[in-house]
Amino acid sequence: MSLKMPEPDQATIRRRRDIAAALGTILPPDAIVVEESMRRVYESDGLSAYRQLPLLVTLPRTTAEVAAVLSYCHREGIKVVPRGAGTSLSGGALPLADGILLGMARFNRVLDIDPANRCAVVQPGVTNLAISEAVKGLGFYYAPDPSSQIACTIGGNVAENSGGVHCLKYGLTTNNVLGVEMVLIDGTVIRLGGKHLDAAGYDLLGIVIGSEGLLGVVTEVTVRILPRPEHACALLVAFPTNEQAGNCVSAVIAAGIVPAGMEMMDRPAIHAAEDFVHAGYPLDCEALLIIELDGPRAEVDELKARVEAIARERGASSIAVSQTEEERLRFWAGRKAAFPAVGRISPDYYCMDGTIPRRELPRVLTEMRRMSEHYGLRCANVFHAGDGNLHPLILYDANQPGELERAEAFGADILKLCVKVGGVLTGEHGVGVEKRDLMGVMFNEADLAQQQRLKCAFDEGGLLNPGKVFPELHRCAELGRMHIHAGRLPHPDLPRF
Ligand SMILES: Cc1cc2nc3c(=O)[nH]c(=O)nc-3n(C[C@H](O)[C@H](O)[C@H](O)COP(=O)(O)OP(=O)(O)OC[C@H]3O[C@@H](n4cnc5c(N)ncnc54)[C@H](O)[C@@H]3O)c2cc1C
Repeated sequence: MSLKMPEPDQATIRRRRDIAAALGTILPPDAIVVEESMRRVYESDGLSAYRQLPLLVTLPRTTAEVAAVLSYCHREGIKVVPRGAGTSLSGGALPLADGILLGMARFNRVLDIDPANRCAVVQPGVTNLAISEAVKGLGFYYAPDPSSQIACTIGGNVAENSGGVHCLKYGLTTNNVLGVEMVLIDGTVIRLGGKHLDAAGYDLLGIVIGSEGLLGVVTEVTVRILPRPEHACALLVAFPTNEQAGNCVSAVIAAGIVPAGMEMMDRPAIHAAEDFVHAGYPLDCEALLIIELDGPRAEVDELKARVEAIARERGASSIAVSQTEEERLRFWAGRKAAFPAVGRISPDYYCMDGTIPRRELPRVLTEMRRMSEHYGLRCANVFHAGDGNLHPLILYDANQPGELERAEAFGADILKLCVKVGGVLTGEHGVGVEKRDLMGVMFNEADLAQQQRLKCAFDEGGLLNPGKVFPELHRCAELGRMHIHAGRLPHPDLPRF
């Protein structure tokens, strides 16, 4: 492990049995995991190069049980790491040796489907795909669709503000969640938002979505559900160069067309995906766009013709349009399986996640090719091109000394490049531990201090998911420190506490 985590508190580790006994008074016996072999199940998440056995695991079933665990940890000064399905690619659910892992898998019920208000109320351990399955019979679906949707939970999606191929048109998790119930570190249960479309006061829901388990534990989520579009079709558009494909993406958006999804794969990714799922991808091209159009049939037909014309103008070497629903799903199958497909051609891969302004796509792709040569590591590119959200997959072999470190240095350079061209460190996978030490590339000290003040307003003791997101841990009191020159108090009119 090359990333440092906060030094574990040995006194807490020595108290493991006592802590388990105390938890036994507030949770049923099957909700506490003490045995090492059982705790090992939780030692890692999707950032599998990093592992750590948790102090203990708790698996509560009710909000009251979550509140009891958090309030106990608050009193005793014990750290807590919330966890959904453990698919985070940024190490957000990485356990701590001196912290309790709070698994939310048993919160797996759909509580209410309300087509009149176009929403559903679900527990946070419900998988993303299960929401769409639950409302399918009524002609609805839940729009954000991470590739991991079969496994990842809506609680994890809320914490990471997850996205997917359809977020270009329908927005990310933050645009599709109407409300949450959340337990604060002292055990207080709060509700933010609800079935209504707006809430009074500050947009606290907006703060909680994407907060990576640092502000509270989400115990219920109200999501927006949308009517299924009348018609959808997908276009497979091949290009002789990445640059031409990148230019086509910008041209489609500039023409005022917002496809339901617009994804790009480069040559290594196309070949890996085609070998794996036989989606019918052309193999004689350097870049492939999958462009989905949805809506009333007449609108889709009109947009299809316009997109085809733009693609031809930008040098497309071939265009295939799905003729049936089965064919549309087959076009997507390759993209959705691109990560495991790349896993077949390399012992290990490291999935990056950065976002750039769309017009910078050609420049960034060229620069990444140069980096790939510099580090001597192959790189396959799969990304949400319409959103400018890159997912370079850096191929390496962890058994070769130094390759993991080279892959991490390559990844860090890609993220620095994203920031340099006007983009951001993450698109949808979160900061976690993975990008924690790069936060200084994006934010200055004043920015980071302000963000930590916000964290302190929710969790003064820094007990929720410490070691994630912030490159340095500060005591909350230190952040309020004030320098007084020559006895002159700044803003003397303001009340002091
Ligand atoms: C193959 C693969 C493909 C992926 N594709 C995508 C993609 O297309 N788009 C995308 O956005 N992501 C993708 N991901 C990343 C991952 O699936 C998402 O980040 C997902 O939202 C994590 O959900 P989870 O339930 O697994 O959460 P976990 O990994 O368990 O946790 C993630 C974070 O959420 C916090 N958390 C979990 N539950 C709660 C809760 N109830 N309350 C408070 N905090 C909580 C944790 O502390 C942690 O910080 C992919 C991952 C894999 C492995």
